[in-house]
Amino acid sequence: MKNKEFCIMNDNPPYWRNFRFDGSERHEALFGGRNRSKSIKDGLVVFLTFENHRGTNGIHGKNGHTLDIMLKQEAEKKWLEYYDKTIDDFIKRYGRNYL
Ligand SMILES: [Zn+2]
Repeated sequence: MKNKEFCIMNDNPPYWRNFRFDGSERHEALFGGRNRSKSIKDGLVVFLTFENHRGTNGIHGKNGHTLDIMLKQEAEKKWLEYYDKTIDDFIKRYGRNYL
């Protein structure tokens, strides 16, 4: 049984954690369309409380835009560093640049 999912993100409480915890929900940093499965494959996932995920101020909530962008920027930075890639490579894989 696997209890550690592939995740290259930094732990960043209270916003997100980089490991599954009791009651957490997994969120894919680049979640639109096919980017969701690429996020999972690349380790660009985080674990959120329900509130930080789907609450009003959560990433998918109506006041969650700032948190969403903050996470996407972190995800792009980690991806560039971990895979030793360029911003152009990121755009090719995920469609746009968040930095
Ligand atoms: Zn999500």
